[in-house]
Amino acid sequence: LASKLPAVGTTIFSVMSELAAKHNAVNLGQGFPDFEPPAQLRDALARAVADGRNQYPPGIGVGALREQIAHKTAAMYGRNTNPDTEVTVTSGATEAIFAAIAATVSAGDEVIVLDPAYDCYVPAIELQNATAIRVPLRQPDFAVDWQRVAEAISPRTRMLIVNSPHNPTGAVLDAVDLDRLAELLRDTPIIVLSDEVYEHIVFDGHAHQSVARHDELAARSFVISSFGKTYHCTGWKIGYCVAPPPLTAELRKVHQYLTFATFAPAQWALAEMLASEPQHHLQLADFYQAKRDRFRALLADTPLILRDVPGGYFQLVDYSPIRDVDDATFSQWLVREVGVAGVPLSPFFETSPDIRLLRLCFAKSDATLVAGAERLAELK
Ligand code: PMP
Ligand code: GLN
Repeated sequence: LASKLPAVGTTIFSVMSELAAKHNAVNLGQGFPDFEPPAQLRDALARAVADGRNQYPPGIGVGALREQIAHKTAAMYGRNTNPDTEVTVTSGATEAIFAAIAATVSAGDEVIVLDPAYDCYVPAIELQNATAIRVPLRQPDFAVDWQRVAEAISPRTRMLIVNSPHNPTGAVLDAVDLDRLAELLRDTPIIVLSDEVYEHIVFDGHAHQSVARHDELAARSFVISSFGKTYHCTGWKIGYCVAPPPLTAELRKVHQYLTFATFAPAQWALAEMLASEPQHHLQLADFYQAKRDRFRALLADTPLILRDVPGGYFQLVDYSPIRDVDDATFSQWLVREVGVAGVPLSPFFETSPDIRLLRLCFAKSDATLVAGAERLAELK
């Protein structure tokens, strides 16, 4: 069979989770919490099932949840959106990303993707017979080099993808970045896809700079997020997209034939949770900052060099004092011999860079972080 995606194998997240299980390792690889969603949310899900919320919900999402998303967008980012024409619930952010790309990117178009990038963007672009134009982030801080972005824009550029807080690096965009982006796109028809799934996990008192805050950008953007990160329920796969009516209308054309609708009971449960605990997400940054700081303190005695973590729930570590091998080799050795699974950075780059960085997830219970750090302390 001639593959449509010949370069694509199994994602590094599945590979590392399987290896972690096989070697009985502490799994700090794939990004998911090893603790439970709030009891109130779990109860609400059970109640939704018991109350008969078990048939197809509206394809665009349960109205009560879309209203809560619109409230949240107004409260957090000062943007008023119409839940009927601008908010769509999807099966995870992954589906929203795919639907947004499939709905707007055509064969021969170019999409600018920063490098490194989360892994689901480029295959979605290539399935449209479009081309991903990768623009390297600056080293070592992974900031966007807007001059290089400007140079990558061509008459074929249809979309530009940003992701803040950024996976895998943890870098965040600031207000000046958004102004530069708006300036570059002014007078072009380029659409923005802004992946903001870690929107509530920004540290050290900084505010997340949502594209939704920025009038000029919001008018041309798909703003995509997910409840998985915010409510510790990555397995529920409930995401959403906020976009102006013309973009939403196109996204929904794909969404209705991709999945039609999304798991109903979880939508009702999340709508109830957001209505009764509208402050929940405001505690998330402190919650994860405490985990970040605990994990960094636990790693302080290891030879690993810790990179700064402005946002998200991943710690990048530079292992060059320990081994001078590529990151795929190092991560395999670490899971097998030391019993800790992390994620190598090279799969997120267009071409394997000569870097010595591993991504460790700290969305874990204290016991897991301590167990991982104890094993890493054996490194010499
Ligand atoms: N974008 C980024 C940057 C992510 O890290 C993830 C998942 N960790 C997703 C999108 C996908 O989110 P979901 O699980 O809701 O599909
Ligand atoms: N986004 C998660 C991560 O970065 C994994 C999601 C997945 O396995 N697709 O680890």
